[in-house]
Amino acid sequence: MPLSKVLIVGAGPSGLLLTLLLAKAGINVELIEQTDALDTNPRASHYAEPSNYEFDRAGVLDDIRAEGFFPDGVSWRKLDEKKTRLVKLSNPTPEDGKIDSTFERYRMVCLPLHRLGKILEDAVSKQPTATIRYEYKVVDLGQDDQKAWVKVETPEGEKTLEADYIVGCDGANSKVRRTLFGDNVYPGHTWDEQIVATNMYYDFSPYDYDDSQFFVHPEHWHMVAKIQSDGLYRVTYGEIGGLTREQLLERQPAKYAAFLPGNPTPDKYKIVNFSPYRVHQRCVDNMRVGRFLLAADAAHLCNPFGGMGLTGGIADIGSLYDSLVGMHTGQADESILDKYDEVRRKIWHDIINPVSSNNMRRLIDLDADTAVEDDPFLQLLKRMETDKQLQLEMSKGMMALRHDMTQYFDKKR
Ligand SMILES: Cc1cc2nc3c(=O)[nH]c(=O)nc-3n(C[C@H](O)[C@H](O)[C@H](O)COP(=O)(O)OP(=O)(O)OC[C@H]3O[C@@H](n4cnc5c(N)ncnc54)[C@H](O)[C@@H]3O)c2cc1C
Repeated sequence: MPLSKVLIVGAGPSGLLLTLLLAKAGINVELIEQTDALDTNPRASHYAEPSNYEFDRAGVLDDIRAEGFFPDGVSWRKLDEKKTRLVKLSNPTPEDGKIDSTFERYRMVCLPLHRLGKILEDAVSKQPTATIRYEYKVVDLGQDDQKAWVKVETPEGEKTLEADYIVGCDGANSKVRRTLFGDNVYPGHTWDEQIVATNMYYDFSPYDYDDSQFFVHPEHWHMVAKIQSDGLYRVTYGEIGGLTREQLLERQPAKYAAFLPGNPTPDKYKIVNFSPYRVHQRCVDNMRVGRFLLAADAAHLCNPFGGMGLTGGIADIGSLYDSLVGMHTGQADESILDKYDEVRRKIWHDIINPVSSNNMRRLIDLDADTAVEDDPFLQLLKRMETDKQLQLEMSKGMMALRHDMTQYFDKKR
């Protein structure tokens, strides 16, 4: 039977994208968001191949490519006077000759998350079967054989909204997840270290920096990445766990002076965003509970080094979209939602969790003087410096984060 309505909680990138995809497939979809506008904190900025594949299906990839830019590559460096490169990987370009047109279309693009959100929000607003409601905060939920519902606080008072299925895209602190499983039930661990993500302007031009680089250092491990073509940089650095926001703010000038090139004083740069984050590796035990589904940060978390957080979340959305459309069009029954739960959690456990954990450990634990000899991943990157074909294969390997759910459609239906 066609779905009469899907309700999505949370207008972050995952909720907006799922709303857009389902609406474009003709499904009635209501998206509710507790705040009165999209979030502008410094978070995702780099979108890898699996995300771009889904953005393309939603019809927004051209806008993202037009507003964003293509980073030239990434390096791993030592925190010495010269900021010596240990490994540098230039992103493959069409000029390399071996890159195919599909791959070129999905190559990594960089755009700050709030600008991606605006593109998605504009596209959703043009869909006749989609509605976005701001200042709608989920406070409780329930379900029976026929439907699921949420209780929401709104400026007009408390309401109950019903749908065939409800998807929690409500982020790391998901109320949907906490109500389904309990407030403190999110299996996994929190790192002892915390991170501080800053968006800032500083003149890196005298210092031979790449568009993105990671620094291996036991105390001042960090990442510097250009995130806008106007020269806005993301500087994310490790800090001692347990410090308060005030303490972190107080320590920030000394941190920058210790690790940025030129050892700048605060008058030499301008910080436009400052956000401390605790860092987690967590995944729920079930992404489906009856008529409730979880996706992206509501379902799993990882540290941001290597940009696998939202990429994994967007891949969830692609799988969930295909599953719900399969049910809407009669090509699948609801058991496909159990398959969604199974394959998405397997991908998190088998790929996202180990790869992202190693990405962060590598920066903290390796001795920069022997890092390339000691670390098999850096050795592989070293080979890729001169073997473009190997690099292309590795980039295509990122597509393993997506999973084609249409293979489970019942061909007889
Ligand atoms: C510093 C940093 C850098 C990162 N860089 C990258 C990167 O380069 N690439 C990458 O792939 N990932 C990156 N990530 C991860 C990425 O930002 C997140 O995975 C992503 O933003 C999660 O999106 P989401 O839609 O699941 O949740 P969110 O963006 O958190 O959205 C959830 C929404 O739900 C709403 N909500 C919450 N509770 C309720 C409620 N009760 N009722 C109604 N609405 C509610 C919230 O207000 C919010 O708008 C980074 C993260 C950090 C911290």
